[in-house]
Amino acid sequence: MNNGKPVIEFDAVVIGAGQAGPTLAMTPAGRSEKVALIEGELVGGSCVNHGRAPTKTLRKSARVAHLARREGDFGIQAGKVEIDFAAAMGRMQQRVDESRAGLEASITGQEARSIGPAGRDSIAPRS
Ligand SMILES: Cc1cc2nc3c(=O)[nH]c(=O)nc-3n(C[C@H](O)[C@H](O)[C@H](O)COP(=O)(O)OP(=O)(O)OC[C@H]3O[C@@H](n4cnc5c(N)ncnc54)[C@H](O)[C@@H]3O)c2cc1C
Repeated sequence: MNNGKPVIEFDAVVIGAGQAGPTLAMTPAGRSEKVALIEGELVGGSCVNHGRAPTKTLRKSARVAHLARREGDFGIQAGKVEIDFAAAMGRMQQRVDESRAGLEASITGQEARSIGPAGRDSIAPRS
């Protein structure tokens, strides 16, 4: 016990559940070692939450609008093309949420447990 709190021992601790962390954690876990994967913000890190996934999803909406505005070049008459920015952002957020949920499900499948809300009790809290 540590100040009344139970001490949990791990063979390895990986800080950050972005792109690298979950994969890195699998190596010792594959050797049946007990691994702690600590995330201080959002599972998925930059790629899923702020980087590749949201930007590529928005880019796809822009690409579709671009092609639709060139309708005549393709022998198509589709009428005036308008962008519903709120809908495009909603689609983006849905993709991000789905992606993060999928990653979280794959991690919890490894018997992961959350250490406090948003990782605040993590052993390496962010400054
Ligand atoms: C706008 C944008 C677009 C991108 N597009 C692409 C692309 O198309 N293709 C591509 O290959 N790459 C792309 N990237 C880069 C890609 O997102 C990163 O290379 C990748 O996310 C790095 O993964 P990582 O695991 O090293 O770090 P991160 O994804 O940043 O994950 C680190 C995690 O560690 C957590 N963490 C850090 N310190 C602590 C701590 N002390 N305690 C607890 N948790 C902590 C963070 O909260 C974070 O979740 C893009 C990046 C951005 C910003």
